[in-house]
Amino acid sequence: MMDFLTQCRAIAGDAYVLAAPADMAPFVTDQRGRFTGKALAVLRPGSVDEVAALVRVCAEHRVAVVPQGGNTGLVLGSVPDASGAQVLLSLARLNRVRQVDAVNRTMTVDAGCILQHIQEVAAAEGCLFPLSLAAEGSCTIGGNLATNAGGTAVLRYGNTRELCLGLEVVTPQGEIWSGLRGLRKDNTGYDLRDLFIGAEGTLGIITGAVLKLYPQPKASITALAALPSPAHALQLLVLMQDHCGSSLTGFELMSRYCLALVAEQFPQLPKPFAGPHPQYVLLELSSSESEQHAVGLLEHAIGAALERGVINDAVVASSVAQSAGLWQLREHIPLAQAKAGKNIKHDISLPVSRIADFIEVTGPLLDAAFPGCQLVCFGHLGDGNLHYNVAPPPGISNDDFLLQQDQVNRVVYDSVELFGGSISAEHGIGALKRDELARYKSPVELNMMRAIKAALDPLGIMNPGKIL
Ligand SMILES: Cc1cc2nc3c(=O)[nH]c(=O)nc-3n(C[C@H](O)[C@H](O)[C@H](O)COP(=O)(O)OP(=O)(O)OC[C@H]3O[C@@H](n4cnc5c(N)ncnc54)[C@H](O)[C@@H]3O)c2cc1C
Repeated sequence: MMDFLTQCRAIAGDAYVLAAPADMAPFVTDQRGRFTGKALAVLRPGSVDEVAALVRVCAEHRVAVVPQGGNTGLVLGSVPDASGAQVLLSLARLNRVRQVDAVNRTMTVDAGCILQHIQEVAAAEGCLFPLSLAAEGSCTIGGNLATNAGGTAVLRYGNTRELCLGLEVVTPQGEIWSGLRGLRKDNTGYDLRDLFIGAEGTLGIITGAVLKLYPQPKASITALAALPSPAHALQLLVLMQDHCGSSLTGFELMSRYCLALVAEQFPQLPKPFAGPHPQYVLLELSSSESEQHAVGLLEHAIGAALERGVINDAVVASSVAQSAGLWQLREHIPLAQAKAGKNIKHDISLPVSRIADFIEVTGPLLDAAFPGCQLVCFGHLGDGNLHYNVAPPPGISNDDFLLQQDQVNRVVYDSVELFGGSISAEHGIGALKRDELARYKSPVELNMMRAIKAALDPLGIMNPGKIL
C-alpha cells in the first residue's frame, strides 16, 4: 500500500494526504457521533484535476473512495466503513465561486463551497440562492447535490435538484465530465445530471455545479399559528396557498411536545403563546412587491383562518428579530432532542393530503407496541415531509430504547408504505437505511438501480455499501 500512498502524495502533496490516525480522526466520525469508521487515508485535493488523478490511482489499486463534503449528513453516507481499506476524499479545498452570471441568473461553483457562502455571494449580487437548511454554515453544495437536500424553502423553490442546471463530475474511472451548462432547456438524451444528483457519491464525485439564482424577495414575514390538530394544519395549508399563491415560502408543522422540549432545553427562547396548543405551524411569506404587500396578504389569510376555526390563535412577527426568534423555535427542535438524549429518527414523506391520517393512525400503533413512547413530530408539512422521531417512554433509558430501533422502524415504515410514502424524504439512504431500502423498493426498481451502478462504476469503488 506504500505505493498507493506515494502516488497519492505525488498528486496532492504530502500535506494533503493524511494517514496518521490523529490527523484522520476529525473526518471519520459521523455527524451524530454514532459511528467512527477507519480510513486508509484522507485525501484533500486542491483542484478538479487532482480529484481525477487521485480517483485514477484508486481505480488502479481497487481502493474504494468515500466522498465527503461538510460531513453533516445524517445517514452515515460520508464516513468510511470499519475496514480501514477505504480512502476518504474531502472536497473541502475546492471552495471557489467560479462565476456569477446575473443575466442568466446562474452561479458556477466548486462542489466544496459552503452553502452559506453561496447564499452570501448570491445576495451580494442582488440575487437569492434559496436552498436553506439548519446545517448551512457547514454543509457543502456538493453534499447538498449528492443528497438532493431539501430544507425550509422547498415549497416555493423545490429541492436541490430543481436548483441545479449543470454538473461537473469525476467519474469512477477518473475522467472529468464537464456538464456545466447553464441551460434551462436541454433535451439531448439521457439526463446524466439527474443521475448524479441524489446518488450520495455512489456514481461519481461532483466537483462543480451551475446553480439557479432567483430575484431577492423585497420582504418576507413570519407567523406562528396554533391549531387543534394536524388535519387543521392541512386546511390551513390549502387556505394559505389559495390566498397567497407562490408567496408562501415556508410551512413547518411542530407538535406541542416539540415546543415543550424546546422550552425545557432552551428556556431563553421566546414563548409566543400563554398556554400550550396541540399543534403549531410556522409560516413564511415572501413578497416581490413590498413589506406592506406581504403583511397584507398574511393578515388577510390569518383573519380568514381564525374566522373559519382553522386556527386557535396566531402571532405575526413585527420585526426581523421576532421572525428570527420564531424560526429559532423550529431550528432548536433537533438540538433540544439531542440534549434530551438519543431517539429513533425517521425522515419520511407522504402525499400531503394523507399526512393527518398517517399521524392519527401511526401514533396509536407505536403507543400500543411501546407504551408511553414520545413522538417528536415536526417537519416541512408543505412538502409532505415529516421528521417523525420516537423518544423512549419515561423510565426507559435512551440506550435501551435504541436496542428496539428495528421494531420501531418496522411500525413506522410499514405505516409509511401503507399511506403511499417514502422512507427517506431528504436525508438520503447512506449506510443507515440501506437494508430498509432493500425492503421497501420493488425488485424492478432495485434491479434498475443496480444496473446503473454496475454500468457507471463496474469496479464498485465509489462509496460502496451506501444506498445499495
Ligand atoms: C442540524 C442539521 C440540519 C439538517 N437539516 C437538513 C434539512 O433541512 N434538509 C436536508 O435535506 N438535510 C438536512 N440535513 C442533512 C445534511 O445537512 C444534508 O444532507 C447536506 O446536504 C449534506 O451536505 P454535506 O456537505 O455535509 O455532505 P456530507 O455529509 O459530507 O455527505 C453526504 C453524502 O453526499 C456524498 N457527497 C458529499 N460531497 C459529495 C460530492 N462532492 N460528490 C459526490 N458525493 C458527495 C457523501 O459521500 C455522502 O454520501 C441536516 C443536518 C444537520 C446536522
